[in-house]
Amino acid sequence: MIDQRLQDDLTVALEEARDIGWGEPADYLRDVQGRDNNALAAAVCTTEGEVVGVGDHDRLLALQSVSKAFTYAVALQECGLDRVLAYIGVEPSGEAFNELSQHADGRPFNPLINAGALMAQALVPGETLEEREALLLERYSALAGGRLEVGEEVLAAEQVRADRNFALAHMLASSGMLTYDPHEVVQGYLRQCSVEVTTTQLAVMGATFARGGRNPVTGERVFDERVVQQTLSVMLTCGMYDASGSWVTQIGIPAKSGVSGAMLGVVPGALGLASWSPRLDTHGNSIRGLDLFRRLSDRWDLHVLRHR
Ligand code: GLN
Repeated sequence: MIDQRLQDDLTVALEEARDIGWGEPADYLRDVQGRDNNALAAAVCTTEGEVVGVGDHDRLLALQSVSKAFTYAVALQECGLDRVLAYIGVEPSGEAFNELSQHADGRPFNPLINAGALMAQALVPGETLEEREALLLERYSALAGGRLEVGEEVLAAEQVRADRNFALAHMLASSGMLTYDPHEVVQGYLRQCSVEVTTTQLAVMGATFARGGRNPVTGERVFDERVVQQTLSVMLTCGMYDASGSWVTQIGIPAKSGVSGAMLGVVPGALGLASWSPRLDTHGNSIRGLDLFRRLSDRWDLHVLRHR
């Protein structure tokens, strides 16, 4: 049964966000997303498995950088916390998402900027690109409760604009952090960025985190609770790149954004909240998504540090 209050509040927040007409989609995705510039969707999934979507919630969008949180969780689950910490830090970088930033010992600052996301991709076990991708897709799909695939059109656009990611992967290689070809690391990363979901599926992925790693719709355990705690911690401190501080103070929930205009928030023990609008601000975060999250965080008292 659909919770009428969730539905009503989501609809109101969505319509208020629709009034914002500024901000441009990422230029290199314009051809792929041209028809979607005004797309707008929001969805929520509770830890009881109740799902509500409004607007364009059943259309496909690319995960882009939201995938960084999921691949980090896979690396943690497969390699263990100590090994992952030896390769990827947990400090906000305060820099743009694609900055060439790393600690003096070579570790990228955190897994949610590109340098750290490439490192997380490189930690995913498997002999080949195909094996690693099969594991990632299987875990992503379990999070969403439905089969997810790489979007070939988005992938093609990513591949022609990958110079910066190649530079980052070579930076990691030059620090001795990689055990295989940096170009293959980039391919794996671009493919994970191109995995497509609906906004509703994204909300279910968030709700699986909110429920400590168990999908509330299918009942499947996808990640251990400790893995989820670690992932949500970096989402809270680093998920919005160099806008992470203002995000935490204003909205106050672990979250991750993507250049497609996707946004995912997790309220532990309560719900996953997802939005999609391709119009971006200068940090690469969705403008309407920010507005929507701000309104719903206030309306539903979501800030995790609020005095209770
Ligand atoms: N594929 C994009 C990149 O690596 C993802 C970046 C993002 O979503 N912010 O540049």
